[in-house]
Amino acid sequence: MLQRIELVLLPEEATHEQEFKNKIAKQLRISEKDIRDFRLVKRSIDARSKQVKFRLFFDVALQEELPILEKEVRTLQDVRNKKPVLVIGAGPAGLFASIQLIELGYKPILIERGKDVRQRRRDLALISKLGEVNPNSNYCFGEGGAGTYSDGKLYTRSDKRGNVKRALATFVQFGATNDITIDAHPHIGTNKLPGIVTAMREAIEACGGEVHFNTLLMSIKITDQQVQGITVTPSEGGMDYSIDGKSIILATGHSARDVFQTSTSSKYFNRSERFCPRRSH
Ligand SMILES: Cc1cc2nc3c(=O)[nH]c(=O)nc-3n(C[C@H](O)[C@H](O)[C@H](O)COP(=O)(O)OP(=O)(O)OC[C@H]3O[C@@H](n4cnc5c(N)ncnc54)[C@H](O)[C@@H]3O)c2cc1C
Repeated sequence: MLQRIELVLLPEEATHEQEFKNKIAKQLRISEKDIRDFRLVKRSIDARSKQVKFRLFFDVALQEELPILEKEVRTLQDVRNKKPVLVIGAGPAGLFASIQLIELGYKPILIERGKDVRQRRRDLALISKLGEVNPNSNYCFGEGGAGTYSDGKLYTRSDKRGNVKRALATFVQFGATNDITIDAHPHIGTNKLPGIVTAMREAIEACGGEVHFNTLLMSIKITDQQVQGITVTPSEGGMDYSIDGKSIILATGHSARDVFQTSTSSKYFNRSERFCPRRSH
Protein backbone atom coordinates (compact mmCIF):
# COMPACT_ATOMS: atom_id res chain seq x y z
CA MET A 1 0.00 0.00 0.00
CA LEU A 2 1.35 3.41 -0.99
CA GLN A 3 0.95 6.26 1.50
CA ARG A 4 1.87 9.93 1.51
CA ILE A 5 2.94 11.17 4.91
CA GLU A 6 4.27 14.44 6.30
CA LEU A 7 7.11 14.79 8.80
CA VAL A 8 7.63 18.10 10.57
CA LEU A 9 11.27 18.29 11.62
CA LEU A 10 13.74 20.71 13.15
CA PRO A 11 16.35 22.00 10.66
CA GLU A 12 19.10 19.82 12.18
CA GLU A 13 16.86 16.73 11.89
CA ALA A 14 15.91 17.46 8.30
CA THR A 15 19.48 16.86 7.10
CA HIS A 16 19.83 13.44 8.75
CA GLU A 17 18.53 11.27 5.93
CA GLN A 18 19.54 8.06 7.69
CA GLU A 19 16.99 8.90 10.43
CA PHE A 20 14.06 9.35 8.03
CA LYS A 21 13.05 5.69 7.94
CA ASN A 22 12.93 5.52 11.73
CA LYS A 23 10.82 8.67 11.96
CA ILE A 24 8.43 7.48 9.24
CA ALA A 25 8.02 4.16 11.09
CA LYS A 26 7.29 5.98 14.35
CA GLN A 27 4.70 8.21 12.68
CA LEU A 28 2.99 5.19 11.08
CA ARG A 29 3.35 3.19 14.33
CA ILE A 30 4.96 0.31 12.54
CA SER A 31 8.35 -1.32 12.62
CA GLU A 32 11.10 -0.05 10.29
CA LYS A 33 11.28 -3.49 8.68
CA ASP A 34 7.67 -3.15 7.53
CA ILE A 35 8.65 -0.24 5.30
CA ARG A 36 9.68 -1.56 1.91
CA ASP A 37 10.68 1.76 0.36
CA PHE A 38 10.16 5.50 0.70
CA ARG A 39 10.90 8.62 -1.30
CA LEU A 40 11.09 12.34 -0.42
CA VAL A 41 8.70 14.12 -2.80
CA LYS A 42 8.32 17.64 -1.43
CA ARG A 43 10.21 19.86 1.01
CA SER A 44 9.25 23.25 2.38
CA ILE A 45 10.40 25.50 5.21
CA ASP A 46 7.88 26.82 7.72
CA ALA A 47 9.30 30.00 9.23
CA ARG A 48 6.06 31.44 10.54
CA SER A 49 6.97 30.87 14.19
CA LYS A 50 10.18 31.47 16.14
CA GLN A 51 11.23 27.84 15.76
CA VAL A 52 11.83 27.24 12.05
CA LYS A 53 10.63 23.83 10.89
CA PHE A 54 11.00 21.71 7.79
CA ARG A 55 7.94 20.02 6.36
CA LEU A 56 8.91 16.91 4.43
CA PHE A 57 6.46 14.85 2.42
CA PHE A 58 7.27 11.21 1.66
CA ASP A 59 5.72 8.52 -0.47
CA VAL A 60 5.99 5.34 1.59
CA ALA A 61 5.53 1.79 0.21
CA LEU A 62 4.79 -0.99 2.70
CA GLN A 63 4.33 -4.04 0.46
CA GLU A 64 4.81 -3.16 -3.19
CA GLU A 65 7.75 -1.26 -4.70
CA LEU A 66 7.56 2.47 -5.26
CA PRO A 67 6.67 3.21 -8.88
CA ILE A 68 9.77 4.07 -10.93
CA LEU A 69 9.98 7.80 -11.57
CA GLU A 70 10.49 8.30 -15.28
CA LYS A 71 13.11 11.01 -15.66
CA GLU A 72 11.65 13.58 -17.96
CA VAL A 73 14.57 13.96 -20.33
CA ARG A 74 14.45 15.99 -23.52
CA THR A 75 15.41 13.82 -26.47
CA LEU A 76 17.64 15.90 -28.68
CA GLN A 77 18.49 14.99 -32.25
CA ASP A 78 20.78 16.14 -35.05
CA VAL A 79 19.05 19.03 -36.81
CA ARG A 80 21.93 20.24 -39.00
CA ASN A 81 19.98 19.68 -42.22
CA LYS A 82 16.51 20.40 -40.88
CA LYS A 83 14.26 23.40 -41.52
CA PRO A 84 15.71 26.50 -39.82
CA VAL A 85 13.79 28.69 -37.35
CA LEU A 86 15.21 32.06 -36.31
CA VAL A 87 15.02 32.57 -32.55
CA ILE A 88 15.71 36.13 -31.43
CA GLY A 89 17.02 36.41 -27.87
CA ALA A 90 18.96 33.89 -25.76
CA GLY A 91 17.07 34.48 -22.52
CA PRO A 92 15.05 31.67 -20.89
CA ALA A 93 12.34 31.89 -23.56
CA GLY A 94 14.83 31.72 -26.47
CA LEU A 95 16.93 28.94 -24.93
CA PHE A 96 13.91 26.78 -24.06
CA ALA A 97 12.36 27.47 -27.49
CA SER A 98 15.60 26.34 -29.16
CA ILE A 99 15.70 23.11 -27.14
CA GLN A 100 12.04 22.47 -27.96
CA LEU A 101 12.67 23.13 -31.67
CA ILE A 102 15.46 20.54 -31.66
CA GLU A 103 13.14 18.02 -30.01
CA LEU A 104 10.59 18.69 -32.75
CA GLY A 105 13.15 18.36 -35.54
CA TYR A 106 13.83 22.01 -36.45
CA LYS A 107 17.18 23.79 -36.60
CA PRO A 108 17.28 26.82 -34.28
CA ILE A 109 19.35 29.83 -35.34
CA LEU A 110 19.68 31.79 -32.12
CA ILE A 111 20.41 35.50 -32.43
CA GLU A 112 21.57 37.34 -29.29
CA ARG A 113 22.57 41.02 -29.05
CA GLY A 114 24.77 40.41 -25.99
CA LYS A 115 27.76 38.23 -25.17
CA ASP A 116 27.95 34.68 -23.91
CA VAL A 117 27.11 34.23 -20.25
CA ARG A 118 30.74 34.19 -19.03
CA GLN A 119 32.01 37.19 -21.03
CA ARG A 120 28.92 39.07 -19.93
CA ARG A 121 30.17 38.92 -16.33
CA ARG A 122 33.02 41.32 -17.22
CA ASP A 123 30.53 43.92 -18.42
CA LEU A 124 28.63 43.61 -15.14
CA ALA A 125 31.86 44.28 -13.26
CA LEU A 126 32.32 47.45 -15.36
CA ILE A 127 28.85 48.61 -14.31
CA SER A 128 29.53 48.19 -10.59
CA LYS A 129 33.16 49.37 -10.64
CA LEU A 130 33.11 52.20 -13.19
CA GLY A 131 29.41 52.86 -13.76
CA GLU A 132 29.97 52.07 -17.44
CA VAL A 133 26.99 50.38 -19.12
CA ASN A 134 27.35 48.43 -22.34
CA PRO A 135 23.89 48.86 -23.93
CA ASN A 136 23.99 45.34 -25.36
CA SER A 137 25.66 43.44 -22.52
CA ASN A 138 24.39 44.20 -19.03
CA TYR A 139 22.04 42.88 -16.33
CA CYS A 140 19.20 42.57 -18.86
CA PHE A 141 20.97 41.71 -22.12
CA GLY A 142 23.26 38.81 -22.90
CA GLU A 143 23.10 35.01 -22.88
CA GLY A 144 20.76 33.73 -20.15
CA GLY A 145 18.66 36.89 -20.34
CA ALA A 146 17.48 39.19 -17.54
CA GLY A 147 17.99 37.89 -14.04
CA THR A 148 20.82 35.43 -14.86
CA TYR A 149 23.18 37.32 -12.59
CA SER A 150 20.73 38.39 -9.94
CA ASP A 151 19.24 35.30 -8.31
CA GLY A 152 17.81 32.21 -9.95
CA LYS A 153 14.77 31.50 -7.87
CA LEU A 154 12.38 29.33 -9.84
CA TYR A 155 9.07 29.25 -8.11
CA THR A 156 5.79 30.44 -9.45
CA ARG A 157 2.37 30.65 -7.86
CA SER A 158 0.81 29.77 -11.17
CA ASP A 159 0.38 26.12 -12.03
CA LYS A 160 -1.90 26.74 -14.98
CA ARG A 161 0.50 28.50 -17.34
CA GLY A 162 2.59 25.64 -18.60
CA ASN A 163 4.37 22.53 -17.48
CA VAL A 164 6.48 23.80 -14.59
CA LYS A 165 7.72 20.28 -13.76
CA ARG A 166 9.02 19.86 -17.30
CA ALA A 167 10.91 23.17 -17.12
CA LEU A 168 12.51 22.10 -13.81
CA ALA A 169 13.39 18.68 -15.26
CA THR A 170 15.09 20.45 -18.19
CA PHE A 171 17.25 22.43 -15.76
CA VAL A 172 18.17 19.16 -14.02
CA GLN A 173 19.07 17.62 -17.39
CA PHE A 174 21.50 20.48 -17.95
CA GLY A 175 23.16 20.38 -14.54
CA ALA A 176 20.85 21.64 -11.76
CA THR A 177 20.54 19.46 -8.67
CA ASN A 178 17.50 17.25 -8.26
CA ASP A 179 16.56 19.33 -5.20
CA ILE A 180 14.75 21.82 -7.44
CA THR A 181 12.16 19.17 -8.27
CA ILE A 182 11.42 18.62 -4.54
CA ASP A 183 11.72 22.06 -2.94
CA ALA A 184 8.54 24.08 -2.60
CA HIS A 185 10.56 27.19 -3.46
CA PRO A 186 13.22 25.89 -5.86
CA HIS A 187 16.33 27.96 -6.34
CA ILE A 188 19.32 27.44 -8.64
CA GLY A 189 21.50 30.38 -7.60
CA THR A 190 23.60 32.86 -9.56
CA ASN A 191 26.73 30.80 -9.00
CA LYS A 192 25.29 27.74 -10.79
CA LEU A 193 23.03 29.33 -13.41
CA PRO A 194 25.80 30.35 -15.89
CA GLY A 195 27.01 26.72 -16.05
CA ILE A 196 23.51 25.49 -16.81
CA VAL A 197 22.96 28.17 -19.46
CA THR A 198 26.30 27.23 -21.06
CA ALA A 199 25.33 23.53 -21.07
CA MET A 200 22.04 24.36 -22.80
CA ARG A 201 23.83 26.37 -25.48
CA GLU A 202 26.46 23.68 -26.00
CA ALA A 203 23.68 21.11 -26.45
CA ILE A 204 22.01 23.36 -29.05
CA GLU A 205 25.29 23.69 -30.96
CA ALA A 206 26.13 19.97 -30.64
CA CYS A 207 22.82 19.16 -32.33
CA GLY A 208 23.63 21.46 -35.24
CA GLY A 209 21.79 24.59 -34.09
CA GLU A 210 23.55 27.95 -34.53
CA VAL A 211 24.18 30.58 -31.87
CA HIS A 212 25.19 34.12 -32.91
CA PHE A 213 26.27 36.43 -30.10
CA ASN A 214 26.86 40.20 -30.42
CA THR A 215 24.19 40.20 -33.11
CA LEU A 216 21.41 42.74 -32.91
CA LEU A 217 18.09 42.30 -34.66
CA MET A 218 17.39 45.41 -36.73
CA SER A 219 14.43 44.49 -38.89
CA ILE A 220 12.22 41.67 -40.05
CA LYS A 221 11.71 41.41 -43.79
CA ILE A 222 8.14 40.55 -44.72
CA THR A 223 6.69 40.33 -48.22
CA ASP A 224 3.13 39.26 -49.03
CA GLN A 225 2.54 38.67 -45.33
CA GLN A 226 5.27 36.06 -45.25
CA VAL A 227 8.44 36.46 -43.21
CA GLN A 228 11.49 36.25 -45.50
CA GLY A 229 14.29 36.83 -43.03
CA ILE A 230 15.90 39.39 -40.77
CA THR A 231 18.51 42.11 -40.91
CA VAL A 232 21.03 42.15 -38.11
CA THR A 233 23.99 44.27 -37.19
CA PRO A 234 27.07 43.38 -35.11
CA SER A 235 26.51 44.90 -31.65
CA GLU A 236 30.08 46.16 -31.45
CA GLY A 237 30.22 47.75 -34.90
CA GLY A 238 30.26 46.50 -38.49
CA MET A 239 28.01 46.22 -41.51
CA ASP A 240 24.38 45.10 -41.38
CA TYR A 241 23.68 41.78 -43.05
CA SER A 242 20.68 39.55 -43.76
CA ILE A 243 19.79 36.09 -42.56
CA ASP A 244 17.08 34.25 -44.51
CA GLY A 245 14.34 32.37 -42.70
CA LYS A 246 10.60 31.95 -43.00
CA SER A 247 9.89 31.30 -39.32
CA ILE A 248 10.77 33.52 -36.39
CA ILE A 249 10.34 33.26 -32.65
CA LEU A 250 10.70 36.71 -31.11
CA ALA A 251 11.97 36.08 -27.57
CA THR A 252 13.49 39.47 -26.83
CA GLY A 253 11.99 39.88 -23.34
CA HIS A 254 10.48 42.84 -21.54
CA SER A 255 13.69 44.94 -21.51
CA ALA A 256 13.97 45.23 -25.30
CA ARG A 257 12.24 48.59 -25.44
CA ASP A 258 13.77 49.29 -28.86
CA VAL A 259 12.13 46.19 -30.34
CA PHE A 260 8.74 47.06 -28.84
CA GLN A 261 8.95 50.67 -29.98
CA THR A 262 9.90 49.69 -33.48
CA SER A 263 7.34 46.92 -33.79
CA THR A 264 4.46 49.03 -32.50
CA SER A 265 5.34 52.03 -34.62
CA SER A 266 5.73 50.09 -37.84
CA LYS A 267 3.44 47.49 -39.32
CA TYR A 268 6.18 45.11 -40.38
CA PHE A 269 8.92 45.92 -37.93
CA ASN A 270 11.20 47.66 -40.41
CA ARG A 271 13.30 50.20 -38.63
CA SER A 272 13.34 53.52 -40.46
CA GLU A 273 16.23 54.62 -38.30
CA ARG A 274 18.87 52.83 -36.29
CA PHE A 275 17.27 52.88 -32.89
CA CYS A 276 19.39 50.35 -31.06
CA PRO A 277 22.39 51.92 -29.41
CA ARG A 278 25.75 50.45 -30.29
CA ARG A 279 28.66 50.53 -27.98
CA SER A 280 30.48 53.80 -28.51
CA HIS A 281 33.96 52.36 -28.00
C1 LIG B 1 17.21 41.92 -11.96
C2 LIG B 1 16.24 40.81 -12.30
C3 LIG B 1 16.18 39.69 -11.46
C4 LIG B 1 15.30 38.63 -11.75
N1 LIG B 1 15.31 37.52 -10.94
C5 LIG B 1 14.48 36.49 -11.23
C6 LIG B 1 14.48 35.31 -10.46
O1 LIG B 1 15.23 35.16 -9.51
N2 LIG B 1 13.62 34.33 -10.80
C7 LIG B 1 12.76 34.44 -11.86
O2 LIG B 1 12.01 33.50 -12.13
N3 LIG B 1 12.73 35.55 -12.62
C8 LIG B 1 13.58 36.56 -12.33
N4 LIG B 1 13.55 37.69 -13.11
C9 LIG B 1 12.63 37.73 -14.25
C10 LIG B 1 13.21 36.92 -15.40
O3 LIG B 1 14.54 37.31 -15.60
C11 LIG B 1 12.38 37.14 -16.65
O4 LIG B 1 11.06 36.74 -16.41
C12 LIG B 1 12.96 36.31 -17.78
O5 LIG B 1 14.32 36.64 -17.98
C13 LIG B 1 12.18 36.54 -19.07
O6 LIG B 1 12.75 35.71 -20.05
P1 LIG B 1 12.72 36.06 -21.59
O7 LIG B 1 13.56 35.04 -22.28
O8 LIG B 1 11.33 36.25 -22.00
O9 LIG B 1 13.40 37.51 -21.72
P2 LIG B 1 14.85 38.02 -21.33
O10 LIG B 1 15.40 37.26 -20.21
O11 LIG B 1 14.74 39.50 -21.21
O12 LIG B 1 15.74 37.64 -22.61
C14 LIG B 1 15.64 38.34 -23.83
C15 LIG B 1 16.95 38.19 -24.58
O13 LIG B 1 16.78 38.81 -25.84
C16 LIG B 1 17.94 39.55 -26.15
N5 LIG B 1 17.55 40.64 -27.07
C17 LIG B 1 16.75 41.70 -26.79
N6 LIG B 1 16.59 42.49 -27.88
C18 LIG B 1 17.31 41.90 -28.87
C19 LIG B 1 17.57 42.26 -30.23
N7 LIG B 1 17.06 43.36 -30.81
N8 LIG B 1 18.40 41.45 -30.95
C20 LIG B 1 18.94 40.32 -30.40
N9 LIG B 1 18.74 39.95 -29.12
C21 LIG B 1 17.93 40.72 -28.36
C22 LIG B 1 18.45 40.06 -24.81
O14 LIG B 1 19.83 40.37 -24.83
C23 LIG B 1 18.11 38.90 -23.88
O15 LIG B 1 19.18 38.00 -23.73
C24 LIG B 1 14.44 38.74 -12.87
C25 LIG B 1 14.51 39.87 -13.72
C26 LIG B 1 15.41 40.89 -13.45
C27 LIG B 1 15.49 42.08 -14.38
